[in-house]
Amino acid sequence: MQHPWAHQRRFNAYSEYFKREFGGRVQKVSVNAGFTCPNRDGTKGTGGCTYCNNDAFNPSYCSPSKSIRQQIEEGIEFHSRRYRRAEKFLVYFQAFSNTYAPLEKLMEIYDQALEVEKVAGLVIGTRPDCVDNEKLEYFARLASKKYIIIEYGVETSNDSTLQIINRGHTFAETIDALTKTASKGIKTGVHLIFGLPGETRQEMIDQAPIFSKLPVNTLKIHQLQIVSGTKMAVQYKNNPAMFTFFTLDEYIDLVVDFVEKLNPAIVIERFAGEVPPRFLAGPNWGPMRYDFILQKIENRLLERDTWQGRLF
Ligand code: SF4
Repeated sequence: MQHPWAHQRRFNAYSEYFKREFGGRVQKVSVNAGFTCPNRDGTKGTGGCTYCNNDAFNPSYCSPSKSIRQQIEEGIEFHSRRYRRAEKFLVYFQAFSNTYAPLEKLMEIYDQALEVEKVAGLVIGTRPDCVDNEKLEYFARLASKKYIIIEYGVETSNDSTLQIINRGHTFAETIDALTKTASKGIKTGVHLIFGLPGETRQEMIDQAPIFSKLPVNTLKIHQLQIVSGTKMAVQYKNNPAMFTFFTLDEYIDLVVDFVEKLNPAIVIERFAGEVPPRFLAGPNWGPMRYDFILQKIENRLLERDTWQGRLF
């Protein structure tokens, strides 16, 4: 095996990347800053992405009653008890579109987060159409002092799929956001979903060389999971033939086929999601821990004597 990492794992693993970046264990603390989403409030659309769970949009969830500082301090306290070795924390802004607000509001939230002791940086999840130069310049200023990554919900590079899932943005907008973000010295993350309706297995694999050429630092891949209460759940009920589901075994080979074409410089944070089966309205693999799936992927990489970037 020949790969560019010092460790023996066959992919550019997130945990090893963190050790390199921070010299030790770093824990993520999730907070909800009460942002909304332009694909829900009418700016881009009102229906939202077809796979997005409507229940996540109730007002109480959108308007967290605790301040950012309080949420972070409570999160740090919780994690410090569970993971005694964690000394540094990244604040993860995951819910909704965390750059979808005027700059002043963003500054209020993110400046506050970075003031909390032990916070080493921010992970900011958003849509590719929710950043502009002004906002990126602000994040660039933060990035010159702390670890800042903007994680984009990209989902696919295929415009026809983006339309089918009602994302409300194009892949050209994704390229633009990634390029501008990276050009300002801010790290970028990409989130992809494998198994979206209308997309073939080969089209999923063909995305590896596309993202390999873009300025992407970290990648999360999820299998499509149809969540109850979504538009997609209705589509699945009415027309299951729209969807191609992979068994766990098939999915592992799909991921391995993708990864061996992927630029080895891209750090892989996740290979699969783990929505509890009780929330799902489509085929699923049953209750399964991510660690188990990850181990299976690592075993398959070994069995096939391949690794991330072997065919890059
Ligand atoms: S998935 Fe994200 S972008 Fe799409 S509707 Fe839900 S919050 Fe908005």
